[in-house]
Amino acid sequence: MHHLTLAEIARGLAEKQFSSQELTRTLLARIAQLDPQINSFISVTADNAEQQALAADARRAKGDTNPLLGVPLAHKDLFCTQGVRTSCGSKMLDNFKAPYDATVVAKLAEAGAVTLGKTNMDEFAMGSGNESSYYGAVKNPWQLEHVPGGSSGGSAAAVAARLLPVATGTDTGGSIRQPAALTNLTGLKPTYGRVSRWGMIAYASSLDQAGPLARTAEDCALLLQGMAGFDPQDSTSINEPVPDYSANLNAPLDGLRIGLPNEYFGAGLDPRIATLVEDSVKALEKLGAVIKRISLPNVQHAIPAYYVIAPAEASSNLSRFDGVRFGHRCENPADLTDLYKRSRGEGFGAEVQRRILVGAYALSAGYYDAYYLKAQKIRRLIKNDFMAAFHDVDVILGPTTPNPAWKIGEKNADPVAAYLEDVYTITANLAGLPGLSMPAGFVDGLPVGVQLLAPYFQEGRLLNVAHRYQQVTDWHTRAPAGF
Ligand code: GLN
Repeated sequence: MHHLTLAEIARGLAEKQFSSQELTRTLLARIAQLDPQINSFISVTADNAEQQALAADARRAKGDTNPLLGVPLAHKDLFCTQGVRTSCGSKMLDNFKAPYDATVVAKLAEAGAVTLGKTNMDEFAMGSGNESSYYGAVKNPWQLEHVPGGSSGGSAAAVAARLLPVATGTDTGGSIRQPAALTNLTGLKPTYGRVSRWGMIAYASSLDQAGPLARTAEDCALLLQGMAGFDPQDSTSINEPVPDYSANLNAPLDGLRIGLPNEYFGAGLDPRIATLVEDSVKALEKLGAVIKRISLPNVQHAIPAYYVIAPAEASSNLSRFDGVRFGHRCENPADLTDLYKRSRGEGFGAEVQRRILVGAYALSAGYYDAYYLKAQKIRRLIKNDFMAAFHDVDVILGPTTPNPAWKIGEKNADPVAAYLEDVYTITANLAGLPGLSMPAGFVDGLPVGVQLLAPYFQEGRLLNVAHRYQQVTDWHTRAPAGF
């Protein structure tokens, strides 16, 4: 049963080939048996899952046919889940039980999905390798000594290892698309404002967006359907109707204009990845797409702009974790200053502390104009580049990452080396655009992803292109040995 996609599970449940309870038990047993190898879960909520599965089976017996009814999934451990530890991968929140459900969690639970647990992640979603979690690094099921990507690395590794069909993730600078690429999954970052951020522990609020990780585009469509929608509790949520994401998956690609940005095929890209990306372009051309070369002249400034804006917002968002309002409190503080200093010093790991320092510096008087304001101006120029490009093309295609998964620990001495891995993904967050990564082949046995970007609210278009591609390729069907 563990090889079934979400769409196949939904059919199997509807046709009563198996119950949600049977499926849930099978996957929980698989998690207990295999997860010690990859460390993809922080918490497994077996009892809750069992109850939700029974309730889903009862709803189905009464005639409920929601496609997510009885479907097992897991949430990245930064979505608040009522009564369950919500750690954000940090010692700071190791003992935090959320008093309410995030909107995404509540919506999926209402649809009848069964939550098997909370997945491992980079601490406070800062990272590209899932190496900074307080609960230990996550391992890539394709090669255990390699990273699975981050920060939604636990969700990605769990789905890739067939511990469950789908999981939620969040993407501030690539954290859905990049781990999807490195573990052979399909992952979608929606338009900023498409999915509610309410109850999602904030990293950089103007960039954060939740989305689905799955093996196929078809499954991403089903999960996104359950996540997306206006939420009055999130002031940046956008009041746009949610289309039926599964309705146009099969639409023909004849005449689809695909833009290839020159800047995404230059220095720094592993030539073997470039070849696989070109193969994907040929496959799409055969399906009727027309290729155009385009230029996004300002994307070369994306990494420095992002690594000012994201830490600046993080330094503000993370000020609430002070041992008083939220989070770990040190033993026997001498006075209030000592309490703040030691609680934060003990609760946050090195990467989080580094970003808070960088962010506070960039926002401080005298430096604000030079760094933060400058970065915001670059952000606008990057957005303008995309707006101009989308006059001429329908989607933009390129590699998701410049390299395949690196070895755990390999980049520890040089944080900037890890930041550079985000070069192709962070532009979508800076511009607020939707982006998708889909499996496109292997380099030395490690998966490679192709990224598609589209104009605002055109998630359906991305899913359509990826679905058609997945009908003529079989990369997404490959499973890692041993799982
Ligand atoms: N790697 C990026 C960072 O560390 C993106 C993380 C994310 O998308 N959450 O900021």
